[in-house]
Amino acid sequence: MNAEIIAVGTELLLGDILNTNAQYLSQKLAQLGFTVHFQSVVGDNPQRLAQLAQQAKERSEVVIYSGGLGPTADDLTKETVAQIYGDPLQFDVAQFEKIQDFFHACGKPMSENNRKQAMVPLYGETLENNNGTAPGMLFRQDGRVAILLPGPPKELIPMFEGEVLPILQKMQKNVLVSRVLRVYGIGESVLEEMVAPLLEGQNPTAALYAKTAEVVVRITAKAETTEQAAEMCDKTAKEFYRIVGDCIYAEGEQLLEETVVKLLAEKNLQLSTAESCTGGLLSQRITSIAGSSKVFECGVCSYANTVKEKLLGVPADVLEQFGAVSPQTAKAMAQGSLRLSGADIAVGITGIAGPDGETPEKPVGLVYIAAANKEKVWVHRMVMANRTREVVRFAASQKALDLVRRIAMEFEIKDCDCFEK
Ligand code: AMP
Ligand code: MG
Repeated sequence: MNAEIIAVGTELLLGDILNTNAQYLSQKLAQLGFTVHFQSVVGDNPQRLAQLAQQAKERSEVVIYSGGLGPTADDLTKETVAQIYGDPLQFDVAQFEKIQDFFHACGKPMSENNRKQAMVPLYGETLENNNGTAPGMLFRQDGRVAILLPGPPKELIPMFEGEVLPILQKMQKNVLVSRVLRVYGIGESVLEEMVAPLLEGQNPTAALYAKTAEVVVRITAKAETTEQAAEMCDKTAKEFYRIVGDCIYAEGEQLLEETVVKLLAEKNLQLSTAESCTGGLLSQRITSIAGSSKVFECGVCSYANTVKEKLLGVPADVLEQFGAVSPQTAKAMAQGSLRLSGADIAVGITGIAGPDGETPEKPVGLVYIAAANKEKVWVHRMVMANRTREVVRFAASQKALDLVRRIAMEFEIKDCDCFEK
């Protein structure tokens, strides 16, 4: 079934408030298995609202309105939509008393224009609002419905959950189930080519979303029961695992740092870091995860060469000969961190985050990331041209986390020089 959302209010068009109701309603409708084809915003203007309401009624089985149900003259959603659905409004004594009681309970005087809110549809239904004075409305015609909800989210949300949800569930035979796979190590366009046939499916659908230094896959299936839809998602997810393999690092909302902390805890492994251009971002990401104290030994933020030398034991001649931003320094930083902490795995990061500090041989965005265990050291060279300082630093920390994950899992490590100790 298709649905559409219409938010009414000139304040939305002026940018005074953000249309959070549309986001909320879209999420809820998707969860219920409705396909949302349109989201519109229209000002408090009866002609334009009537035009849109007529169009929406023709093209969508469910139309949800938000806003314009208040007592003031510019609130005209109810009057306008009622006319489109051929439903006359009439004064309802019970509703009027309810509004009076509401004002009484708040200790506020009721103004004359609140009478407008006691006008209810003759054929349609009135939806209770326990958090405000404007009741909601529901109009039906030829199996199609229009649902009118008040604008304030603290009124709209409880009304949706309490009154609207059961109505929509009854209308909708299908449920939607989604599954999210998180991918690191394959860019969006390469991944798209790899999984092209899977992206063409109609049910389940699969889509890729590029994020900073990772790609997210969302698989969505529609079926009569949750179990059936979940099973359909499983089948497609299996295909993704077959093709993408160990580049899928987690599912759902689990970020790479959380994946790594959990993995290290499971494997009883300790980690330490030595960071230059990321300035502690990696250790910050790791320690933001509850339980990281079990797996994280120490992080050294070794910006100055003297600290790289004194604290991490990076040889002075390495720094002199190859420079601070070099594979040799990254390797020595990782090895130094391992010695310093006694951890099982250590990371060294050194690079030029920009926007300045580049030389002809060493451009902005050049970062060396090394990861060592007691047997080997892997060094990766990353070049990120035309990226902000923030992105360069995040991407470097992301690569470091993935190297740690691969070492802990004993996965294949590509795009790295590997040195035996
Ligand atoms: P209304 O029902 O149009 O009189 O709106 C009353 C109040 O609800 C507005 O002043 C906003 O604070 C809020 N509101 C209205 N529409 C929206 C919306 N689409 N998203 C979030 N808040 C809204
Ligand atoms: Mg309004």
